[in-house]
Amino acid sequence: MPTPTPLLVYRVGYVEEHALESLLAGLRSAYKSHKAVYVGDIEPPVTAYNWRRRQYDSTTLLHTLLKKTSPHAPTLFVAGVDAYADNLNFVFGEALLGQGAAIVYTPRLKPEFYGDEPNPLLYIERLIKESLHELGHAFGLRHCPTPGCVMNFSNSILEVDEKKPAYCQRCAEILAENGVLVNEEYILA
Ligand SMILES: [Zn+2]
Ligand SMILES: [Zn+2]
Repeated sequence: MPTPTPLLVYRVGYVEEHALESLLAGLRSAYKSHKAVYVGDIEPPVTAYNWRRRQYDSTTLLHTLLKKTSPHAPTLFVAGVDAYADNLNFVFGEALLGQGAAIVYTPRLKPEFYGDEPNPLLYIERLIKESLHELGHAFGLRHCPTPGCVMNFSNSILEVDEKKPAYCQRCAEILAENGVLVNEEYILA
């Protein structure tokens, strides 16, 4: 098997060590062709902060982070801040379609955000799903209507919980055409 391409992972702001570690482990078991590598921590740039909304402007944030890091390989930013994009009140993440760059936001993936008991396993599962989703976009996938596919559009935490941490067969085929090989356990049967 050829040497895997790195998948660069940056932490932006405060993200728990256990969450970062579990995400890296999840990404390493999901992709055969890419190996998730933690690169370092970055402070979220204040220029991307919207003081009126008290949220980050996701698109500005992603572009600013890319400018700061000029990554030479596919990149995922894991950000412990809340963000919005376009006409959406908030986003779980964002990606540049087919351009190998993605970001996910952790605050709204935590059960306690919704007044529920903290549940580290559920939080990690959501973080892995949203990371697979945004990386799917970064690797060229669009939204997919196949039930359970991680590429389903989700704008509520219920929709995140309904989908699986796995790509459908068709999405996995498109990824493979784009040079991204997914391990069996991350492909819907
Ligand atoms: Zn999406
Ligand atoms: Zn799909």
